[in-house]
Amino acid sequence: MRLILLGPPGSGKGTQASLLSIEYNIPSISTGDILRRSIEAQEELGLKAKKYMDEGALVPDELVIEVVKSRLTKSDCKRGFILDGFPRTIAQAEALGSLLNSLECPIHAVINIDVKDEVVIERLSGRRISRNCNQVYHTVYSPPRKTGICDNCGGTLYQRDDDKPEAIKKRLQVYAIQTTPLIRYYQEKGNLISINGDREINEIYEDIVKSLDLLETER
Ligand code: AMP
Repeated sequence: MRLILLGPPGSGKGTQASLLSIEYNIPSISTGDILRRSIEAQEELGLKAKKYMDEGALVPDELVIEVVKSRLTKSDCKRGFILDGFPRTIAQAEALGSLLNSLECPIHAVINIDVKDEVVIERLSGRRISRNCNQVYHTVYSPPRKTGICDNCGGTLYQRDDDKPEAIKKRLQVYAIQTTPLIRYYQEKGNLISINGDREINEIYEDIVKSLDLLETER
């Protein structure tokens, strides 16, 4: 199974990607996570990407496309993969299309998780992440037992720089201008599945799996 998850920041792509990765036993590939790890490791890629990420802008296509190309040719992607946060521009989608054509492994479905801006702002501004284990909390909807401390590992929680109000606003604008054209792009290719993302995690997940099952039976 080869999937793309589309959706604005804070739509729950990462959460659904993790669940689907377990369901189908395929890797979930988040370009955002790869770039954040590269920043932490102070690699050249991370150093180049950081300034864009901090202000909520997109990292240049050529950098991200290289990252994805080298990741998708690793052996664990042979059985399939889930792309979370890539492609985000038409140029990225075209580069991905050419790569997958040359590998003769087309995308099965593009899942578009649809969530309104107000919901995104509420979710992202309350998001806190454990520095050690990456467990995600929300200050209102899923707070840790002790403020600022991870229930799992006891490490401190932090707020991503790009989850601060100015950057959220910018990320939503960037999404509307640069990424929403992909909805039409994949609709025209006939493999887009739209899912209402303003629901409980499990409801969204079941809806996605049901839609994918249906797709499999129709093929
Ligand atoms: P995410 O974790 O997916 O919200 O991504 C965080 C940030 O990483 C984005 O705001 C961008 O700055 C950068 N980023 C992640 N994926 C891409 C991509 N496909 N193209 C360009 N920038 C990206």
